[in-house]
Amino acid sequence: MKEELYTIPVNEALEQDGECLFCTLNKKLESDILNYILGPSYMEEDIRGETDKLGFCKKHYAQMYGEQNRLGVALMVDTHLKHVREELKKLLDAEQAKKPAKKGLFKKADEGGSELTAYLTELEDSCYACNRMNVRMKSYIDTFFHLWKREPEFKEKIRNSKGFCLEHFNMVLSEGKKRLDDAKYAELLSVTAPLELKQLDTIQEDVDWFIQKFDYRFKDEPWKNSKDALPRAIQRLSALTVEE
Ligand SMILES: [Zn+2]
Ligand SMILES: [Zn+2]
Repeated sequence: MKEELYTIPVNEALEQDGECLFCTLNKKLESDILNYILGPSYMEEDIRGETDKLGFCKKHYAQMYGEQNRLGVALMVDTHLKHVREELKKLLDAEQAKKPAKKGLFKKADEGGSELTAYLTELEDSCYACNRMNVRMKSYIDTFFHLWKREPEFKEKIRNSKGFCLEHFNMVLSEGKKRLDDAKYAELLSVTAPLELKQLDTIQEDVDWFIQKFDYRFKDEPWKNSKDALPRAIQRLSALTVEE
């Protein structure tokens, strides 16, 4: 299968000089997806079918509920509820129609789990937005290595970037190990390792100064770069982008 490349979005995200290239890409995609779901244009039939089936995870429900467009959320939730109700009815009927095993006096009701609980468990984690983001992340990582292997300017841009949050650093290294030979992997490490350590030092310094600022003796001192130290530290540690 031919890999789908996103060279323009990846280069644009890199130019934003954020804390992590992949977090920048993710955040943009996430807001595009949610804006589309809640937006004024009529949702395409196949996407509507997907959101009806999958619903959203806790994080994305919270994000959508936090937006102004409660009607958009209600419309999406309305048809998802209908779908869940239908599925649940079928599975509950099947569960209730099960005959208890005759000799199973001491046997627990359902040792191996059931389709009913499997469905409910699956629903807890299923999310249309997360699904879309996971699929696209594969293309972003393909694009990253496509550019890394072919374009020296791209490598240079990475060298001058802030590197990656720990989650995406892990992803870059794991994928790098699979996609590059030993020498090329060593080169990837030699470019990214100093970035990661330097950025952790910088954030540490900024968080330390942020803490100092709570001391009344420093209250009139400038904030330096520490005003957003905490959101940057949280993102670096967890890939979670929080607003300042
Ligand atoms: Zn990241
Ligand atoms: Zn989600």
